[in-house]
Amino acid sequence: MVELGVNLSAQELVKAIHALAPKDRKVKIMNVCGSHEHTITHSGMRALMPETIELVPGPGCPVCVCSESDVINAINLSKRDDTILCTYGDMLRVPTRIGSIRSNGGNYKMVSAPHEVLKIAEQNPDKNVVFFSIGFETTTAPTAALLEMGVPDNFYLLTSQKLTPEIMELLVKDSEVGVDAFVAPGHVSTIVGANAWRVFPEKYGIPTVVAGFEPENLLLAIARILLQLKEGRAELENVYKGVVKPEGNKRAQELMYKYFYKTAVNWRGIGYIPDSGLELRPEYNHLNAKVVFNLPEIQEEKIPGCICDRIVLGKAYPTDCKLFGKGCTPRDPKGPCMVSMEGACNIWYRFGR
Ligand code: SF4
Repeated sequence: MVELGVNLSAQELVKAIHALAPKDRKVKIMNVCGSHEHTITHSGMRALMPETIELVPGPGCPVCVCSESDVINAINLSKRDDTILCTYGDMLRVPTRIGSIRSNGGNYKMVSAPHEVLKIAEQNPDKNVVFFSIGFETTTAPTAALLEMGVPDNFYLLTSQKLTPEIMELLVKDSEVGVDAFVAPGHVSTIVGANAWRVFPEKYGIPTVVAGFEPENLLLAIARILLQLKEGRAELENVYKGVVKPEGNKRAQELMYKYFYKTAVNWRGIGYIPDSGLELRPEYNHLNAKVVFNLPEIQEEKIPGCICDRIVLGKAYPTDCKLFGKGCTPRDPKGPCMVSMEGACNIWYRFGR
């Protein structure tokens, strides 16, 4: 067996994966990053895998897991005459029982980065400007940096920030999911550090490898996972070393926890998970749109026929949904997983499985 390093070609890595894969049992390897799922699907990687290797998309799309309650509150804010709602492009199209932000036709602006909201707030001093801030650790850190810079009096934050390790722990404990190994997300790891995933091998005996986004890097992660399984090891490895440090970005972490605290948050289709998200600390209530505008928690209504909840938990594939490609397409998404370029249904629709 050749040494499994970053110098190997895709062809060599596929060969190694076939040599290492068990013949007598299935191995379920979950990715928890929409960009990983994009690479896997776009490159046709599943077709290159041995029959026993299953590459499963997990909860890697922040748009897909943003609660319906938060989206409806954002819609209702955008319908106020005195308010402009700012958010990322994908969020404008997320369906709810009352439509999407865009279809409701309120006052909204699309932004691609938090600092753009500051400009909108400065240009509209007579309006409340609410930033609907969603995402994992990678978007929380820039939002915290924005608060650190100082924001105008008419700026508010509607947060729906999620944490990745906590949802992964939920998956590990769910026997229906049956994860054998994780490919840990490269982007999130730049913030939280590779060490954030140590709990999975050490507490749960699940091999975990941090990977980047090139097909070769992902193939290497899969090969290293299979080598661990073959040798009966469960360890944390990082094959994205040039970018991800063991301790992550300390400054970004400090800023995040200066403004936010860990709390139970609502994941769409899943419900509240303890310590799985970040909310503004009470001393910043004057910036918190939920507090300032007295926003209610709205009971979620399931979208008829949509199985996004099972897809983000790795319990079903997009093609298991009866609406996939029929009633539900990226042009006319019925559920959140078909909206975002990071959603499994959207990716599978565009590139096949
Ligand atoms: Fe939901 Fe559409 Fe995906 Fe079905 S295909 S799970 S309706 S997003």
